[in-house]
Formats: sequence, C-alpha cells, structure tokens
Amino acid sequence: MAWGQFSVTFAFEPHPAPVTASEREARLVDPAFGRVFTDHMAILHYSEDKGWHDGAITQRVSLTMDPASSVFHYAQEIFEGLKAYRLDDGGLALFRPDANARRFNASARRMAMPDLPEELFLESCERLVLTERDWFPAIEGGSLYLRPFMIASEAFLGVKPSAEFLYMVLASSVGAYWKGGARAVSLWVSHDYTRAAPGGTGEAKCGGNYATSLVAQQEAIRRGFDQVVFLDAAERRWIEELGGMNIFFVFDDGSIQTPPLTGTILPGITRDSILTIARDEGLVAREEPYAIDQWRADAQSGRLVESFACGTAAVVTPIGRVAGPDYDFAIGSGATGQLTARFLDRLTAIQRGRAPDPHGWLRRIG
Ligand SMILES: *Cc1c(COP(=O)(O)O)cnc(C)c1O
Repeated sequence: MAWGQFSVTFAFEPHPAPVTASEREARLVDPAFGRVFTDHMAILHYSEDKGWHDGAITQRVSLTMDPASSVFHYAQEIFEGLKAYRLDDGGLALFRPDANARRFNASARRMAMPDLPEELFLESCERLVLTERDWFPAIEGGSLYLRPFMIASEAFLGVKPSAEFLYMVLASSVGAYWKGGARAVSLWVSHDYTRAAPGGTGEAKCGGNYATSLVAQQEAIRRGFDQVVFLDAAERRWIEELGGMNIFFVFDDGSIQTPPLTGTILPGITRDSILTIARDEGLVAREEPYAIDQWRADAQSGRLVESFACGTAAVVTPIGRVAGPDYDFAIGSGATGQLTARFLDRLTAIQRGRAPDPHGWLRRIG
C-alpha cells in the first residue's frame, strides 16, 4: 500500500488508551520544552543480516533492553532535532527535514552506524506528525518538536560497532523556548573545557558531545551565566559555538560573521538558513574564525554591535553579556539587537508559512 510518495514501511499500531482530549488540552496550556510527549513514537529495527525492518508508529512505551546493549557502555548514539509547525492556513509542515536526514547520515557514518535511507527518515517524521496532529499547542511559538535518534542495541561488551540498532522518533509538544519573547542571554567562555577537537566528533550530532559539555554548562550556571561558549581545542582562542547552538556576530557595517565549518562545529540548519537569508538580502555574511580577544575588543570599540546564538529549539537567541576568568563585557546595549530581531522574524515567518519561501524549506505534509 502506498502512503503519499512512500510505500508504507511503518505499520500503524494505534495506542489502545491515548490521553483523553481534556487531559491533552491541560498539558498543552504551558508545555515548556521537552517534557510533554505525545501518545505515539516511530520505531525501526536494524540488523546486519536484515537491514532496516519492522517499522511501526506505535504507542510510546518504555524500552526493554539488555543491560549489555552497547549504547550503555560505548555511547554509540546519534540524534536529530527538528520542528513541525501548524501553518496559518491550518496545514502542517516540517522545516528542512531533508537537511536533518542528510545530517543524520553524516553523523551515522562518523559513529560507525548504518545509513538510514532519507525516505525512511522523512516517512517516520511525517507519519508521526500526522498521527499526532492534535498535539500542536495552540499558543504563540508552539510547535511539535521531533527527536529522531539511533542507538546501538547489540548485547556484547566487546569494543566494536554494534551489529544491531534501533531508530526511533519521539514527538514533544513545545511552547516558545523563551517565554515572553527572546531575552538576551549571558555567556561564560570556558577556557578550561573544550567541546570538540580536530579529528573528533564535533560535527556529528551525537549524545557524547553533550555529555562532555555538561560540566562546562554547569560551571557557567554556577557562576551565574545562562550558557557556556566553547573555544577551539588547539589554540583556545577561536570561538566555536555554545553547547547546542551556533553563534553569529553582527558588525557596525551591517555585515555578519559566524565561525567556519572546519569539522569541530556542528553544521546547524538554522545557521545555514540565516546565512542564506542574509545573503538573499544582500548582506555580507562571512564564515571566518573570530577570536575571543577580538570579540572583546570589537564589543568595546563599538565595531561589534550584536551577537546571537541559533538552533532549532530556540531559533535565535540574543547575547547580551560575555565573561571569562578575567573579563566581562556587554554586547551592544545588552538587549536584543535590530538584526537579531530581524533574523528571528524572517525565519519564524517562513517557518509559519507567513512569508515567501524561495528555497522551498517548508515541506507541507497535510
Ligand atoms: C543541533 C545543534 C546545533 C543547532 O543545529 P540546528 O540544526 O540549527 O538545530 C548547534 N550546535 C550543536 C552542538 C548542536 O547539537
């Protein structure tokens, strides 16, 4: 049987006792981020002999896994994050899911995991969203956040790539990441911890990168900052990115800059979208290294007027203050800058189907 453009790989096994409509409404009033999950999930199995098989959209249940499963010991795990939106005309759409599918496979290759055909990635996301179409919060900034991920499930303590994997997609109803609009965040620059080294896994979206970033994030919070920003591992000088967001700099001549993708930075789809929007508007958008000393000097001289972080979850987050062991400086007025607000606006308008979409980023699914 065909489903849209796909043959049906994911059988539909409806939840026997889904959350009632009134309970669901109650959960969707103020869902925050990543705590409200929908009734179903997508699941697909892989083994070396059978390839990908036994796909289903099924009730979201706890997993039963052998405690020797290699993901628990050697962290062979990758994930993605993308959002589905309800458009003003009532339709549903994913934002650039093909880019997530490609990046998922790039991460898989780096982690010695099997490729997942892009159609399966797209089909799993689309079918899950269509199944959970009642789980979109009807609040400003609300969306359905999708979390596709793959884990090594072979029960074997020897060190080698697993011969079995599970691919799953969870859906979580989310509100605007920053309640009451984007608030400028403060950053602690980590001079002790690094996130990724040349030849390492910095450009793969793997849980391991997050595990090692948490202690640095914890330090930032303990010192009274919102987020940590990492420097390069070799020289401890070049700004790379936050724990889970890329970074942009805005200059007084109207140009913008972001660190280049040299292997240690996660190639964000939001980052790429902002570069594209900027260039479409005729702005100069550089992908060049930027040093922490330069950031400080430029912020103080007024050459640098804004900075912001970006990623799927929070979209665009203004940066108001930056500090390290012996410095502390404000960015612009410390509040949301003009260009920062404009990028947030432009991107949100495309994602909601309110603006022209010249690059075909919205994938309508119903
Ligand atoms: C996911 C992620 C980003 C942002 O990527 P988007 O595709 O824009 O969501 C940035 N940095 C890291 C480390 C990430 O894991």
